Amino acid sequence: LPEYAFIGRSNVGKSSLINMLTERKSLAKVSGKPGKTRLINHFLINESWHLVDLPGYGYAKVSKKEKKIFQKYITDYFRKRPQLVNTFLLVDIRHEPQPIDIEFMTWLGKNQIPFSIIFTKSDKLKSHQVENNIANYSTELMETWAELPPIFITSSSKKTGRDEVLNYIEQINQSL
Ligand code: GDP
Repeated sequence: LPEYAFIGRSNVGKSSLINMLTERKSLAKVSGKPGKTRLINHFLINESWHLVDLPGYGYAKVSKKEKKIFQKYITDYFRKRPQLVNTFLLVDIRHEPQPIDIEFMTWLGKNQIPFSIIFTKSDKLKSHQVENNIANYSTELMETWAELPPIFITSSSKKTGRDEVLNYIEQINQSL
């Protein structure tokens, strides 16, 4: 089944977004291997695709060793994933482009992994600020990327952006 991965810095709102996306959807949690720490969780949606919840990165409070372990989980996931169709990189709409996110996008690009950006917590800003921040973010991306990735704007508190993300996934699934 096609897989769609969700990833972002810790506290970006990933759990809230996944809850919003999976609400009212026919959903089954597909567990990882028993006995293994479940850093990566799979959800079967509508019996037609897997939502993959990848660990958050950029924790301020973990040791270098722990960071390495997280990184290894993430890169291992991407290295052997023929089913992976698209990665959604979550970015807090309030923040300037963060080096760790930019680095990660570069890494995805180098490994030819398609990605989209989901700007989260849009309810925290006025709409003109949302537009302004996205414009700034896009300008920075255009310095390294020939074209911008698809961009989504969500708020898990206001429940907005849900259909856009899900329709995008359904559309790709139909073209596979
Ligand atoms: P994760 O660490 O990326 O899984 O982030 P969480 O989903 O746990 O969210 C981190 C914090 O941000 C929590 O306090 C959430 O309530 C808050 N949060 C997440 N999404 C939103 C949102 O869309 N709007 C607002 N206002 N707060 C949010």
